[in-house]
Amino acid sequence: RNAGLGSWPERRLRISPERDAIWFEGTTTSHRTFAQRVRRTAGALAGLGVVAGDRVAWVSGNHPSALETLYACGQLGAIWVPVNARLTAPEAEYVLDHSGASVVVHGRDHGTVADALRDRLPGVRTWVAAEAPTAGGADSLPYEDLLAAADPELRDEPVGLDDPCLVMYTSGTTGRPKGAVLTHGNMTWACMSQVLGFDFAPQERTLAMAPLFHIGGLNGTVNPTLLRGGCAVVVRRFDAAEILEVVEQQRVNSFFAVPTMLDALSRDPGFRTRDLSSLRTIGAAGAPLPLSTLRTWLDRGVTVQQAYGMTESAPAGTALDSADAERKIGSAGKPQFFTDVRVVRPDGTEVEPGEIGEVVLQGPNIMAGYWREPERTAEVVVDGWYHSGDAATVDEEGYLYIRDRYKDMIISGGENVYPAEVESALRELPMVQEAAVIGVPDPRWGEVGLAVVVLAPGVPEDAEALLTALRARLAGFKMPRHVDFVQELPKTATGKIRKPDLRARYAPTEE
Ligand code: ATP
Ligand code: MG
Repeated sequence: RNAGLGSWPERRLRISPERDAIWFEGTTTSHRTFAQRVRRTAGALAGLGVVAGDRVAWVSGNHPSALETLYACGQLGAIWVPVNARLTAPEAEYVLDHSGASVVVHGRDHGTVADALRDRLPGVRTWVAAEAPTAGGADSLPYEDLLAAADPELRDEPVGLDDPCLVMYTSGTTGRPKGAVLTHGNMTWACMSQVLGFDFAPQERTLAMAPLFHIGGLNGTVNPTLLRGGCAVVVRRFDAAEILEVVEQQRVNSFFAVPTMLDALSRDPGFRTRDLSSLRTIGAAGAPLPLSTLRTWLDRGVTVQQAYGMTESAPAGTALDSADAERKIGSAGKPQFFTDVRVVRPDGTEVEPGEIGEVVLQGPNIMAGYWREPERTAEVVVDGWYHSGDAATVDEEGYLYIRDRYKDMIISGGENVYPAEVESALRELPMVQEAAVIGVPDPRWGEVGLAVVVLAPGVPEDAEALLTALRARLAGFKMPRHVDFVQELPKTATGKIRKPDLRARYAPTEE
């Protein structure tokens, strides 16, 4: 153990104790009070028997207890396990069981989940309710009571940079989520990369809007801001009208969003009427960012910095400098300060400008591995390089352009079609609100594209009109051959479209 470095959350920079650390539902907490609450949380967890190496799970919508339990775990050398709040009881059971959590802190909406799982998970010694549950959860211990009774003077356990800080499960966009083990070192370097890439300063007021149980929501802007001594404005859930109001009233400077969130915000009437002048930058990543979405925000005078990353890199991969927002529109930018990023051919050599290859990443922010899944780790981390499974190109100046996941690529008549490009073209059509494109078997072409489309309100269903409009924007081989109109697309908690669900829905049935 590398004693003396202090856990990752203790190594914050020049924090003024009087400054705001957290805003939540009208209440502001200073950095001094936040630090005291973290210490009490650590004391409370220690009182429940948590020692270094133990896992403490947190399952809730966004709430300050996320940051308090994360930082408290750091002080104890315990491992924080954020759990997707939208999981059903059996799905949450898988993650809690797989991570081996001994304490679960749950939000107000998870009392019934706690009740359903209490007997099924004997490894969980204590269930704690972060807030009074809306239903069930009568046997969960109240968090505030535990804090009030806790030892406030607990000594920190020495932790080193290589010690695990959290196990974060991936979004599960392509299948069963994997638990990425992120060490204190991973957190330090990833957050420092974000500080440098997005210019976070002590004056920062960032919005915690994306789920804190996913890496973009946690480390995109929130932890880097706290690390710099700024303030996290925490909102419970994604509600476009409410979020635009909070941005105006709390003078929010930045937030992280996935593209579907940016779309929803720009469609709300508040997008035009609210004062958004405090917004300095938005970090956008997590899924392909349609140009039309990007332009809507740039036209509104708000800088959007497209970034590219993943849970496994905590998530610093690449980011576009705000000065390049217009000049390099569509690019995910250049490698973050502490990360090496390459685009390679199957033989490992680097591609020429414009040639498509796989993105691989290396650096002190790359995860230690997947929790209890060495085989899955060995599949993706080869010679220290994390293989993302994402297809991309690099231009003459070294700027990265993400095409799509290889898993989602459609091979039609021998040509590779990247659905993200087709989806982006579809979204340029005023009649389309949202679209997803998947490959379906075809006797002649092997595979052809099926466009699953959510039409803009009031637009009649007319596949021919849609395809005619699209034909002007896409080469013939990229054109979807089938169209289906739906009311809604299946999404993950972060708002990513779940392609496996769509593929299953349209899979040919065996006769
Ligand atoms: P799972 O690994 O469980 O299937 P996931 O890959 O969606 O889920 P995350 O780690 O949250 O889980 O997301 C990382 C992925 O998001 C990247 O590998 C990439 O496919 C996608 N992504 C991130 N940023 C961008 C971007 N700017 N453009 C396109 N895709 C992006
Ligand atoms: Mg992934």
